[in-house]
Amino acid sequence: MTRKAARVHVVGAGMAGLAAAVRLSGSGVPVTLYEAAPRAGGRCRSYHDPVIGRTIDNGNHLLLSANRAALSYLEEIGARDGLIAPTEGPLPFLDLTSGETWRLEPSEGPIAWWVFQPSKRIPGTRAFDFLKAVNLRLAGPDTTVAEAVGRAEPADTRFWRPLTVAVLNATPERASARLLWTVLAETFLKGAAHCKPLIARDSLDASLVEPAVRVLEARGCTLHHGQRLRGLVRDGQRIAGLDFGADRMELAADERVILATPPAVTAELLPELRLPEGNDPIVNAHVAVPETARLPEGAGILGLVGGVAEWIFLRPGLASVTVSAADRWVDRPAEDLAARLWPDVAKALSLPLEPAPPIRIVKEKRATFSQTPDNLRLRPKPTVGLSNLLLAGDYTDTGLPATIEGAVTSGQTAAGLILQRLPDRAAC
Ligand SMILES: Cc1cc2nc3c(=O)[nH]c(=O)nc-3n(C[C@H](O)[C@H](O)[C@H](O)COP(=O)(O)OP(=O)(O)OC[C@H]3O[C@@H](n4cnc5c(N)ncnc54)[C@H](O)[C@@H]3O)c2cc1C
Repeated sequence: MTRKAARVHVVGAGMAGLAAAVRLSGSGVPVTLYEAAPRAGGRCRSYHDPVIGRTIDNGNHLLLSANRAALSYLEEIGARDGLIAPTEGPLPFLDLTSGETWRLEPSEGPIAWWVFQPSKRIPGTRAFDFLKAVNLRLAGPDTTVAEAVGRAEPADTRFWRPLTVAVLNATPERASARLLWTVLAETFLKGAAHCKPLIARDSLDASLVEPAVRVLEARGCTLHHGQRLRGLVRDGQRIAGLDFGADRMELAADERVILATPPAVTAELLPELRLPEGNDPIVNAHVAVPETARLPEGAGILGLVGGVAEWIFLRPGLASVTVSAADRWVDRPAEDLAARLWPDVAKALSLPLEPAPPIRIVKEKRATFSQTPDNLRLRPKPTVGLSNLLLAGDYTDTGLPATIEGAVTSGQTAAGLILQRLPDRAAC
């Protein structure tokens, strides 16, 4: 006889919470989601912006063809076509100071032959600059990227720094060498097929969030918006209830909770845990540009060095710019940031400096937890000694950086741990 599975309460409808809910409900487990914000998505969200006059994302999000968990999540929500390749060929780069351009072109197979081919290398770099990747592989837990690979120029400015900042949202002086290695091992060292950039077709919401919400609703799962969890009601080593302030939810003996909240919130709810502390910001600028504006070689993405802007994503009429590890910029007024970023965008798109178009600056002060060696030691496992509670979120110990891939992996892992323990499965 098939027994009805006990309900799982997922708190936080970011990518981790959504991935957990999708995986569980797909196996017939009834799920209720609670989200503090008016909409799902968390740090991966979109909204209509009156300055630009269209939907924008909170920030550019780049995925890679190596992101197996994220791609499996898209399959599960029937939205595999929500991610598109922004460029047919390898990733293009522009040095805003010198005007030089190049493409980052990994080899087909696992051996990085491109490193030994001057025509395929970044201008001015030597094979030796890239062979320092071995030092990342050998790095101890306390080693930073800069300690492992050094700061020889131009390899620092043109490769190691942009790579580290893009992948770990921290400068090489602060970022964990080991964590960068895990990404290189999954991408460059597996070959070009694992390094293809992917971006949301129209918006993060349309590609990654709304399809999941639709699937969950169709499966009978409830998503409560504007429900901020204030406290966990304990009964010994078990969670007996969820305290939402005005509302309080008693949990049945076999019901479980997945806490998919950001680390600072989780730390307040579970003060006995020591979790990663400190965050690194990302600044994004969205610029209304003419529909005819083009990046070099017609790509939809461009990496930049030598300026303030680091990446441009181009959609018809909209250029979106990223500045990661943005500690020096995030507290400046939006007008100052717009004035600093627009010349970089104008140069990349070959547009005149005057008149400057409308620009929306979006500051995410807590874009990711600080991915330093010290913090990596504090990443928690999904199980934390409470019998019916699991943690999920990009800060948990997935072995991956704080990314969509990390968040989805954490949600799928938490769901998998619950599914393993189910005696039987049943419909929602
Ligand atoms: C600007 C920016 C650019 C980025 N670029 C990239 C990129 O290029 N590639 C990439 O892969 N990743 C990128 N990331 C990282 C990626 O967005 C995150 O790793 C991922 O979205 C984290 O998902 P999460 O579910 O772990 O956390 P969150 O998205 O933070 O989700 C947690 C959810 O919990 C909710 N919540 C909080 N407190 C409570 C409470 N008490 N009760 C109920 N709900 C609560 C929040 O509202 C939120 O919806 C970027 C992030 C930012 C901000």
